[in-house]
Amino acid sequence: LMDGQAVDDHQITVCVRKRPLSRKEIMKKELDVITVPTKDTLIVHEPKTKVDLTKFLENHNFRFDYAFDDGCNNELVYKYTAKPLVQTIFDGGMATCFAYGQTGSGKTHTMGGDFNGKVQDCKTGIYAMAAKDVFGYLKSPKYRHLNLTVSASFFEIYSGKVFDLLSEKNKLRVLEDGKQQVQVVGLTERVVDSVDDVLKLIQHGNSTRTSGVTSANANSSRSHAVFQIVVRPMGSVKIHGKFSFIDLAGNERGADTNSANRQTRMEGAEINKSLLALKECIRALGKQNAHLPFRVSKLTQVLRDSFIGEKSKTCMIAMISPGLSSCEHTLNTLRYANRVKEL
Ligand code: ADP
Ligand code: MG
Repeated sequence: LMDGQAVDDHQITVCVRKRPLSRKEIMKKELDVITVPTKDTLIVHEPKTKVDLTKFLENHNFRFDYAFDDGCNNELVYKYTAKPLVQTIFDGGMATCFAYGQTGSGKTHTMGGDFNGKVQDCKTGIYAMAAKDVFGYLKSPKYRHLNLTVSASFFEIYSGKVFDLLSEKNKLRVLEDGKQQVQVVGLTERVVDSVDDVLKLIQHGNSTRTSGVTSANANSSRSHAVFQIVVRPMGSVKIHGKFSFIDLAGNERGADTNSANRQTRMEGAEINKSLLALKECIRALGKQNAHLPFRVSKLTQVLRDSFIGEKSKTCMIAMISPGLSSCEHTLNTLRYANRVKEL
């Protein structure tokens, strides 16, 4: 880095979050193989066996912008990941926050909120905490003269198809115009005036997501959920800024390409493709003349305008399960997250 170049002005933040062992895992005496020795490092202690049958632990060390141990709550995770990006959309930029990881690692818990039994308390999720801050900025002395209006949309990408979560899972088309502007045709966009309005939308979207009316196979582990907050000058169609939150499909699904079931195999291939394209698009963020594989997947295609532009900022939260039985997937997740940031 050159002298004077601001280190904290980075466009990409990559963090990792370890969830606690669940009660069920504790009952099964599942071993916790993850330690978080400092605020930005994490170690996977992988049990191995030598040829002479002696057992040992192979330690894999990782370093990220932040490493959240299992005692951290959503509020703290939010503070160091998405929160600093809220200002970006008021300054006329695009912000994006991804939750990446294996099914059961805590993506939906982090983005959508704590589960109390079967009901999700969406106030405690990143979507809602960001919405609250958006309304704070809207009324702040620095930005209120912009007269911005806030609206929100919520959709799901399943097997390369887009479904509206705010209108009974209508299937939507994605169109690209001559200027490579991407549009999700007919996507419901609701004007919201308060955090309560947003909470209602999130609740509605979440229940639509899990109800599975149209796409019977689309359980949440196979789909990407995209929640977006858009700010526009009053009466204008032109976007001032946009914050996208993505609860990604379980990355272990990308390996379903050998499944005996054709449908599952195709879905696995699609997920794999989209997660690989996503990595390339994030890596190229802010770089000049990079050739980006937007069109390779629906996910990267609909997020195209969030990857281009000098003011775009992204954070990725890699979620990991602490248990020994997840070790392989955990290492895959951490390696992917590493690559996103690596120069
Ligand atoms: P994913 O969306 O990645 O498949 P979930 O968010 O549904 O995973 O989490 C799986 C289970 O673990 C849920 O029951 C959730 O409540 C619980 N869980 C996830 N993260 C945490 C956490 N940080 N603290 C407590 N429980 C968690
Ligand atoms: Mg989930």
